Amino acid sequence: MNQPVYNFGAGPAMLPPAVLEQVQAEMLDWHGRGISVMEMSHRGADYMQIIAEAEQDLRDLMNIPDNYKVLFLQGGATLQFAMVPLNLLRGHHKASYVQTGIWSEKALNEARRFAEVEVSASNADRQARLVPPQSEWQVSKDTAYVHIAGNETIGGVEFDFVPELGDIPLVSDASSHILSRPVDVSQFGLIYAGAQKNIGPAGLTLVIVREDLLGHAPANTPTMLDYAVQAKEGSMHNTPPTFAIYVAGLVFKWLKKTGGLQAMAERNAHKAKLLYQAIDGSEGFYANPIEQRNRSWMNVPFTLRNANLDKAFLQEAELQHLLQLKGHRLLGGMRASIYNAMPETGVQALVDFMRDFARKHN
Ligand code: PMP
Repeated sequence: MNQPVYNFGAGPAMLPPAVLEQVQAEMLDWHGRGISVMEMSHRGADYMQIIAEAEQDLRDLMNIPDNYKVLFLQGGATLQFAMVPLNLLRGHHKASYVQTGIWSEKALNEARRFAEVEVSASNADRQARLVPPQSEWQVSKDTAYVHIAGNETIGGVEFDFVPELGDIPLVSDASSHILSRPVDVSQFGLIYAGAQKNIGPAGLTLVIVREDLLGHAPANTPTMLDYAVQAKEGSMHNTPPTFAIYVAGLVFKWLKKTGGLQAMAERNAHKAKLLYQAIDGSEGFYANPIEQRNRSWMNVPFTLRNANLDKAFLQEAELQHLLQLKGHRLLGGMRASIYNAMPETGVQALVDFMRDFARKHN
């Protein structure tokens, strides 16, 4: 048999092979209809069933309370950087952001177009190595919401707590760790995520939002950017990304079948532990600078002590079918993204390769 290929890309990322096989099997003829999902009317009965099931399966998986809407949108997480302030300011002038890395910084810079941004806490003075504890945060009482990036995909920094803010809505960019472990949705006002890491194909953006936060967008808000319109019209103000939603729905079914988010969390914790142990146990050949409690389960950046070996590392990894390990262009080094679809065997293959590489080049 061919050696399996493991894709450590940060997104678009691996999808579960079982899902891809089902997509393939249904590609030309979905459930005997003789056409592909791609060719269906989004308002036809078949597609309405597909999107309704996708939403229900997500609600089951995440235990989403009834007073939250699930929206299937477009524009990526990046458009949410604008839609969040547009919709959630609700007459306030100020919005608060916790800066933990590159993605939260992009979010707060975009929000500056719409709001007076308060940076309530930042890790920039500590090389972005941790999430500032809530005891350090300065949140004004008159702020509209507090925004966090639950997992920083580039820096590999993940929240180890859910902030408690009383009546102030908490907004989380969960693009790179949604569905990786259980969360209590009721602790958030809004959660958003681009799909292309843990949900499905690029082109779909998921928003989960508490109903009372809807309906406060200014009158000149573009219709497509108004959550209330999208909620009222079941994410079908216009043609939604039908195929991406269908694939996401299959991923949700796969997650349910494989034990739901608790089982996924156990597998993810184990995978992350294997990789961090390999880094920490390498006697400095490899290094990850993030504080233990904030080390991401999903994105593991690491450097080689001798950066002159980076190129050889990537080349030799590729020969072993370990792909897309090059770190983000802003940080350099390596990054292994180990989302839900990455099996333990993939992480084990990487760990074995890292050990052999270090032995050879030490
Ligand atoms: N936020 C986070 C945490 C991300 O990882 C990314 C994509 N890497 C984005 C936002 C931007 O997502 P998109 O490309 O879907 O706009």
